[in-house]
Amino acid sequence: MALIRKYVFGETDDDGSLLILAAIHGNETAGTAACLRLMEELCREHIKIKKGRLTIVPVCNPEAYRRDVRSVEENLNRVMTMHENPATYEQRLANEICPLIKDNRVILDLHSTHCEGDVPFAFCDYPDNYNKKLIDALEVGYVLEGWPDIYSRQAEIQDFSTEHCAHIYGNTGTTLECGYHKSPAAVELAYRAVIQTLAAFGMIDGVEAKSYPKQHIRMDSYVIKQRAGKLCRAYKHLDKVSAGEPLAVYDDGELLTAPKDGFMLLPNLNAEIGTEWYYLGSNAM
Ligand SMILES: [Zn+2]
Repeated sequence: MALIRKYVFGETDDDGSLLILAAIHGNETAGTAACLRLMEELCREHIKIKKGRLTIVPVCNPEAYRRDVRSVEENLNRVMTMHENPATYEQRLANEICPLIKDNRVILDLHSTHCEGDVPFAFCDYPDNYNKKLIDALEVGYVLEGWPDIYSRQAEIQDFSTEHCAHIYGNTGTTLECGYHKSPAAVELAYRAVIQTLAAFGMIDGVEAKSYPKQHIRMDSYVIKQRAGKLCRAYKHLDKVSAGEPLAVYDDGELLTAPKDGFMLLPNLNAEIGTEWYYLGSNAM
């Protein structure tokens, strides 16, 4: 029996196909709420798909969603590839989600973040014309670039994300971080993102396609938390950092500092040992 449920609207993918994913991380519920609202409007025919095919998976990690946790056994967004012998719950989920990613030209993966006041942003991992059109339609001020580069350079953790999976299959996707997941504003942002994406690709009538200006930030590196320690302050995503600034300290006294002026990205104050602690970035040229 399938672990995930998908909902399909529109007849054919001849005119394009869009896949919306939500709750890849089970406690990131803003995207799910936005999907449920959209599905109700589609069922009531307040919104109609006029061309192409829309597939919605409102809950990609059902067990984590039920428990209100990020993952059950491992990060689903690091194992998004086909597993011949799936060893974990998330690998079994990946085996159901990857064929959907393969079957859709455009993928919008809705995430949300963990602190009140978190700034919404999108990732642009594999730029192409479809990706540009998709990202232009999202109402966020920041785009992070260069994720695949830092993962291939540092090679500590494999990057099997939804965007990587889409890229491997010749499709395109983006990850949208909608802001704090308990905030109604994040649900609104996710909902508008989906509507604007449908408008951008000409799949619905009655909504004017818009394009939002963005600041592009290049991701330079990431830091894996090697042992017990803590960040030097309660950093927030996109906080500015200066060269030499102390960022984190291990319990044994080793201090980690910023190598140059730039931005603190995706800090995880409660990172577990062996996982990403924070990223650093700078203005993209
Ligand atoms: Zn997430």
